[in-house]
Order: sequence, then C-alpha cells, then structure tokens
Amino acid sequence: MAEDMNTNQNNTDQNNNSDHKDSNDNKGYEDICYICRRPESQAGKMIHLPNNICICQDCMQKTFDSMANFGFGGGTNAKLDKDDSHNLNNIDFSGFPNMGMLNLGDIFGDSQRVKKKQEKKDAASHVKPVFSIENIPHPHQIKAKLDEYVVGQDYAKKVISVAVYNHYKRVATNTMDDIEIEKSNILMMGPTGSGKTYVVRTLAKLLDVPLAIADATSLTEAGYIGDDIESVISKLLAAADNDVEKAEKGIVFIDEIDKIAKKKNTNMRDVSGEAVQQGMLKLLEGSTVEVPVGASSKNAMVPMTLVNTRNILFICGGAFPGLTDIIKERLNRKSSMGFVSDLKDKYDNDPHLLQKVTTEDLRKFGMIPEFLGRLPILCPFEDLTEDMLVRILSEPKNAIIKQYQKLLALDEVNLVFTDDALHAIAKKAMDRKLGARGLRAIIEDFMLDIMYEVPKDDDIGTVTITADYIEGKGAPLIEMRTEERLPQKASVSDAAAD
Ligand code: ADP
Repeated sequence: MAEDMNTNQNNTDQNNNSDHKDSNDNKGYEDICYICRRPESQAGKMIHLPNNICICQDCMQKTFDSMANFGFGGGTNAKLDKDDSHNLNNIDFSGFPNMGMLNLGDIFGDSQRVKKKQEKKDAASHVKPVFSIENIPHPHQIKAKLDEYVVGQDYAKKVISVAVYNHYKRVATNTMDDIEIEKSNILMMGPTGSGKTYVVRTLAKLLDVPLAIADATSLTEAGYIGDDIESVISKLLAAADNDVEKAEKGIVFIDEIDKIAKKKNTNMRDVSGEAVQQGMLKLLEGSTVEVPVGASSKNAMVPMTLVNTRNILFICGGAFPGLTDIIKERLNRKSSMGFVSDLKDKYDNDPHLLQKVTTEDLRKFGMIPEFLGRLPILCPFEDLTEDMLVRILSEPKNAIIKQYQKLLALDEVNLVFTDDALHAIAKKAMDRKLGARGLRAIIEDFMLDIMYEVPKDDDIGTVTITADYIEGKGAPLIEMRTEERLPQKASVSDAAAD
C-alpha cells in the first residue's frame, strides 16, 4: 500500500510538472477549481492533480476534513500548508485509500481551463489612482481632482469630498470604536444622467479602493426571488479580488434607491420595498456578514468568509421623482403663513431647490426614518444645463469629442466641432431628458456616416461639424489636404478661427 502511494506521488509529480509547462503556454487562460468552479484569480493557487484536474485549497481542505469525519483509513489529518500547497509532496496522504482507483480525468476529459476575465472598461476607467486612504488628502484636494473629471455639481462634489475625507480619516486612525462617531454614509439625489454614478466611480478610482455597484430594484428580502441584500458585499469582495481587508475599506454604491420607497396603499407584503430598507439597516450601520467567496449565492460547496461592514462607505443614489414637489409644498406652506408671506410660485423655477431637502421630505417620499438615520449626508445633484452639457462634451480628460478626434487623427484627419454645433448637440440632449447620458447616443448617430465615409478618401484633411449638420439641414464641411501635412490637434477654437 505504501509503495503504491509512492508511485502514485511520483506520477503526480510528473503530471504537475507537465501541467505547469502547459500553463506557461496558455498565457491568456487560467485554471479553474474542479469542485467549486472558481478560477485561480479568485480561489488562489491551485493544487494540480493528475489528468489536468485542479482543485483550490479551500475545496481540498474541505475534502480532507470530510474524509477525516468519515474516518477514512483511520485518522486522516491532512492539513494544507498554504505556501507549498501546489506541491502534493507536502500533503500527508497516509490515511487515504489508493487515490489511483478512480481516474476522474478519464471520465470528464481535460478541459479544465477558462479564459481569463478581461478587465472591464467603465466610464471612469481612464482615472488614475492618486490618493491613498491611509494618508487621505484634504477635502479641497479631493474636490480639485474630481473637478478634472466631473463638470459642474460643485455643491455635491464639496459634500462628497468632506464626507469621504471624514470617513477615511476615521478608518485610518481607527477612532470608530472610542468615540462612536456616526458613519458618514451618503444619500445622493438628482436627475438621471447628472453624474451620480460617475462621481462615485471616479472617487473609487482616485482613492484606489474597491467599488461595488448594485441596483436596489434587484434586491429583495432574504428568501424571495431576487438578490439577497448581502449579495452587495460579495460583489465588493469580488471587486477586491477576494481580499477581505481591502473589501472592508471599499465603497458600495446602491443605485435606484428611490425605487425601494414604501409602497403606498398596499396590503401585500412589501418584499422589495420597505423590507429591503429594513434589511439594509444592519449593513449600513456596520455588522459582520457571512458571504460566499467567488459566487453570488450561498451554497454548500462555496467557501464562506466573514466581512465586517463597519468601515465600508455606503453611498445610495436615486432620482427621487416628485421630491422637488414635496420640498416646494413644505416651503410654500411655511412662507405663506404670517405677515411676511411670499408668492406661491416663488420656488417654481429654483434650480437649487433640491439643496433645501430635509429628512422630513424624504420620509414623506417613502423612506423609513431608521434608514434615513443611517445615511446622514444628503447630497443633491442639479439638473444639467445646456452650458454644462457643452462642457461635458469637450472639457473632461476623456471627453467624447476628444475620443472621436483621436480616432480620426489616426487616419490623419482633423475633426472640428463649431461652438454652435456643440450647443445644438446639447440642446438635443436636453430634449431627450436623459442628462449627459443622451450625449453619446446623439453623437454616435451622426458620427456613423463620417466614420464610414472619411476613411474612403485619403485626401480629406479636415472635417468640420456644424450646427446645420446636427440639425439635419446640411452636410459637414470637408476640406481636402492641400499639402502633405500631419494633422494638428483639432480643437473647438480652431473651428472658430476657420
Ligand atoms: P446617473 O446620475 O444617472 O448615475 P451617470 O453618472 O451614470 O448618471 O452619468 C452617465 C454618464 O454621463 C457618465 O458616464 C459620464 O460620462 C457622463 N456624465 C454625467 N454627468 C457628468 C458630469 N457632471 N461631468 C462629466 N460627465 C458626466
């Protein structure tokens, strides 16, 4: 029996070596665990068994434990040494039956690899981390950096900079316990496409902390169809590459939070509204939750880990339609009393009305007081104006127009937008009422023809987009190349000079 085991181990060694060679050949691929199906990037180093079977350390340890429980071979006490675990020589197999009996690889073939996940590009993927949460910069420095990416929304950026500064200062100095300071979780309100998600993404990138974005509408009370509330924490853990310590200092953004307002006039159990608010209370405040590693749902085969949410910054955001009416009603009620009463329409055109929001208004909207109590920082976003949209088109580091100019510059063509054209695009976006989100769709619409036609003709030197073209009343101005010249950097001011 002992001899058997030795020859088995030698075989295993050889197979291991050939597997490693193999993995060098397949750079874009990574091993996945045979049992829990997690890739190596999530589950950690794999243990290589014969016939290209890989098992992660967690599953291997579980297998050992359960075999020991069943009393296989009397007293199996194999323990994995984390550093050397990919080397089977270090594992004490003495109590196991002959492992060569059943060759799993023969049954299932050897396709035990998955393609490595490519890093997803999001709107803020061009943002470089410049701050460290251990040495958090002052609020004005955070806001100055945000200004480079996010146009307008000065009040919101100020509120967030202060909240983030306070939060991470507390985390870094670990004074949460002694003084019992409230967590500065943030509630963002503002129209769709005004930059709420974008601010949070940018912030997480600047601070180099993991970020999980969840949609409140997909959450339901535990036990009902939909995601459990705790699933947002396992998303965060995945964003932190399963590093619990990193995840515990991350940011969770829950979008569409206004959709879980208490439903009015309903006798049914409100599993996706008020119950979700109730369920989130503990998370927001700070508690320890058990979450599956590398999967979104709990099941017997997935290893679990504990995550403490005390230092996680929760940001909730929503459009809160109708909230301005509630604010207006309250303000009007106040101002129409007594001798110094105001006109009833005083607040009708106030663009900063949302800044006057109070928790009382939000309660009226349908948020429960306990929930609001755990989101002490109210952060209103304004409607984007036409001028702001024009600036979004051309100013930020990764502005849409700059992206198209760069694309065409590769074909040695200058792309110029006149000021009027930019305003025409912004006007169209205002009509669509999608905020800045409408801009890309509009530009893509009319850039399609240009991107299709221009590469056909090598002589085209400059394409100027005019307001007439945007409004469908004319064609873009095309200038041919007069002499061999490289394109200069196209800009809006070039167009004005033309
Ligand atoms: P929402 O407020 O609905 O969360 P987003 O933050 O998702 O809106 O905005 C959609 C896109 O519009 C962003 O990816 C970003 O490119 C752009 N955008 C929105 N607001 C701004 C802004 N203030 N400055 C720069 N870009 C913005």
